[in-house]
Amino acid sequence: MPKINENFLKMPASYLFTEVGQRVNAFKTANPDKKIIRMDIGDIKFPLPAVAVEAIKKAADEQLDAATFRGYGPEQGYEFLREAIRDNDFRARGIDIATDEIFISDGAKSDTGNIGDIFSADNRVAVTDPAYPVYVDTNAMAGRAGEINANGRWSKLTYLPCNAENGFIPPLPSIKVDMIYLCYPNNPTGATLTRAQLAEWVNYARKSSSIILFDAAYEAFISEEDVPHSIFEIDGAKEVAIEFRSFSKTAGFTGTRCGYTVIPKQVIARDEYGNNVLLNSLWNRRQSTKFNGTAYVVQRAAEAIYSPEGKQQVKNLIDFYKENAKLIRYGLKRVGFTVFGGINAPYIWAKTPNGERSWDFFDYLLEEKNIVVTPGSGFGSCGEGYIRLSAFGKKEDTNEAMLRLV
Ligand code: PLP
Repeated sequence: MPKINENFLKMPASYLFTEVGQRVNAFKTANPDKKIIRMDIGDIKFPLPAVAVEAIKKAADEQLDAATFRGYGPEQGYEFLREAIRDNDFRARGIDIATDEIFISDGAKSDTGNIGDIFSADNRVAVTDPAYPVYVDTNAMAGRAGEINANGRWSKLTYLPCNAENGFIPPLPSIKVDMIYLCYPNNPTGATLTRAQLAEWVNYARKSSSIILFDAAYEAFISEEDVPHSIFEIDGAKEVAIEFRSFSKTAGFTGTRCGYTVIPKQVIARDEYGNNVLLNSLWNRRQSTKFNGTAYVVQRAAEAIYSPEGKQQVKNLIDFYKENAKLIRYGLKRVGFTVFGGINAPYIWAKTPNGERSWDFFDYLLEEKNIVVTPGSGFGSCGEGYIRLSAFGKKEDTNEAMLRLV
């Protein structure tokens, strides 16, 4: 009889959004006539930008002709997309990234989850609390998190508490860590790091020989000047950081699936004999073995959003969601909530008004207002007493939800 990976048995029973879904379904079954407004999930409501759909159709037609048909593509992604990313996301910001430092994937969830493959199970991992659950869960599955306690905290993880007192900016770790997950603009708090704040992290990583795993899935929502779009805007980051990007929230690719990871060739870690190893080479090896590339038609769609027309269509989408975020911030403040985020991010992080626990307030909003939010405690124990609202809904639903709170 084969043995299982025991770490999977340590995992808490359900993934946050599964639990939310179950509670919503139970309420719907009991109250079929109620109109529920969902402000919980990070899925988008708008369709794909037209340029992306046109590119998919064109690429699909190519598949009818033996002369233009594409079979297996490069595991790392097609050069046309890697060049578009290099030129638009990096060169245009004065950052020098080579195409072989860019790895196209089916999204940032896979990449942030799979990156652990190339790191030792002995590494000490730091995560912010609250955090996108994938960082914690995938490290737990890999055996890097230790044991979970009654509060949902893992014994071997180093938690960096983010709260109203520190403006949701994580403190530097007080003990030596090897891998640090940072996500800015942040899911779930909507907080951002300024250039100076991110530079502190990069300097810390350089001094302490740690690696920063920087998730920039919400980069497109940045509106303020002093907020870096890429960690590679910071001097020295190319030696200590890996960056994850996604087309999901930028361009509506949640169902279409495309993202990418940047691993500069200067980023190194050590083998057991103390030799330097390029993480770029290890990831290339990992991807070549376990991944067969993102669909050609999807990569063409991603390329299309970098055209002038594509950029305008993406901007319209983002502007729409930002307007929703403004409505939510205003609506919540008007009825007395203390709110954070929503300026450089599609998420608004709100304190429950009378110190209610997150799940209790979730139930109250579902049952009394028929609004679904995400309980902050689902992102970590520091999220207790908070809820997260998403700006990815329809405008009329967002407006109605805010009116229901009055
Ligand atoms: N990273 C963060 C912080 C997210 O919030 C999400 C999705 O909600 C992802 C990554 C996953 O993105 P993708 O759709 O590219 O897998």
